[in-house]
Amino acid sequence: MELKQLYNKALELAPLNEEEGVFLYEEAPLEEMVFIGDRLRQIHSPGNRVGWMIDRNVNITNICFSQCTFCNFCRKKGSPDAYVTSVHDYIKKIDELFALGGDQLLLQGGMNPDLGLEFYTGLFRQLKELYPALRLHALGPPEVVFLAKKENLSYSEVLKVLIAAGLDSLPGAGAEILSDRVRKKVSPAKATSEEWLEVMREAHMVNLPTSATMMFGHIETLRERMLHLVKIRKLQSEKPNGSYGFITFIPWPFQDEGTVLAVRDGIRSSYNASDYIRLIAISRIMLNNIKNIQASLLTVGKGVAMLSLHAGANDLGSIMIEENVVSAAGAHNRFGAAEIQDIIREAEFIPVRRNQKYEPMD
Ligand code: SF4
Repeated sequence: MELKQLYNKALELAPLNEEEGVFLYEEAPLEEMVFIGDRLRQIHSPGNRVGWMIDRNVNITNICFSQCTFCNFCRKKGSPDAYVTSVHDYIKKIDELFALGGDQLLLQGGMNPDLGLEFYTGLFRQLKELYPALRLHALGPPEVVFLAKKENLSYSEVLKVLIAAGLDSLPGAGAEILSDRVRKKVSPAKATSEEWLEVMREAHMVNLPTSATMMFGHIETLRERMLHLVKIRKLQSEKPNGSYGFITFIPWPFQDEGTVLAVRDGIRSSYNASDYIRLIAISRIMLNNIKNIQASLLTVGKGVAMLSLHAGANDLGSIMIEENVVSAAGAHNRFGAAEIQDIIREAEFIPVRRNQKYEPMD
């Protein structure tokens, strides 16, 4: 294998296999990876516009049977600080969201064994009746798998019922690393990699907009990271023509503060700045059929996010009013609407506010 040959292959938008990805990641000088990542970003998203959005993360409940070892957010049923968010609290939070100019709720778990499909459809309907302009970016493949098993329904049936109740798009939550070796250690009670992919396959069949993610920097190997990217690319290539598919890919590093992985097993986050920038570039290279790559400002902070915009990323995500899951494990970066736009300008790009489908809003 030669670097130049792989660069040319990437620039022709040809699919690289996992061995080629590993070779590039390990052997290519960082500045060359950045150059290729940026050239590919220009093919997928020409110009120098960078997307951002306003949304609010609300956790439906922190009770979760999954007890993932990287999670410092979940609680067992009966814990003194366990909760299920009340409608009164949703109303307060949504009013604040609209006051700040946002219209989307990112609604996420835990997976509370007491909450079935009727609970979620009732909640979605109630929120949409109260706020018809509200957009719901909610749940994720593990919750769909959980609900399908609980209700004895197919993934497609669960998705259709959720969509009818008001679900607008499905986050790529719970992907972590799509390797069952890794998942058995970090999230053994959660959807398997094939289940995660199957839910997304069904979501693409019913044209539900989705995103893909990766949480890296814990116990995975480099080859497993590349296989994760290959699996995402392969699934995207199978989506029906005209279906949204994966609108974006968002990698973020494991946040280790207070997690079982760190405290019990001594696994600390192995992420550093150059690793993240390299990962953004290799994501651009491997994901030849996904238009948008988002740098995770919330977890990597301003400096690394700015550099990521020169390595292939074309989006900085949301100002994320209230985030509880990764912040419980150490991600303490917070930015308002003015700051995120300043960061994009400081990196010499033009900020463009967008919606969940990556359509410009202004
Ligand atoms: S990461 Fe999500 S699924 Fe896993 S324990 Fe935490 S809340 Fe539950």
